[in-house]
Amino acid sequence: MEKLVKLTGECFCGEIKYEVNGKLRDARSCHCSRCRKAFSSQASAYALVNPSEFQWICGTELLTSYIGENGFGLQFCKQCGSTLCGIYQDEVHGVTLGCVNEDPEIEIGRHIFVGSKASWEVIPQDVPQYEGHPPKIA
Ligand SMILES: [Zn+2]
Ligand SMILES: [Zn+2]
Repeated sequence: MEKLVKLTGECFCGEIKYEVNGKLRDARSCHCSRCRKAFSSQASAYALVNPSEFQWICGTELLTSYIGENGFGLQFCKQCGSTLCGIYQDEVHGVTLGCVNEDPEIEIGRHIFVGSKASWEVIPQDVPQYEGHPPKIA
């Protein structure tokens, strides 16, 4: 039997909390210029979540969404600015790994859009890297 994995996450100020009753999957880091700004960082650190296993615990009155033109959006805390999760068509799509409290027991499996990484970033050589989109997983 698979053990039940329960993860929690919260923003920097701690007002917004969520829990995930399941596993995160397909952790990735995107180095494109848009993700750099969205994550205020050298890259995104993000993993997919099953929407039915995700729920907010508190603080949703502080949760603000920014929806991009492709329908994909990010939700963040309007008090402290932490980006907590990604949404697609009003449903949670994934979480930012930086806001996860426990060890999610996954590692970033691929680094994408390294072709547009910032000049100041040094990426370790022993991780899978793709200049742009990764090849489709069969
Ligand atoms: Zn906050
Ligand atoms: Zn990106």
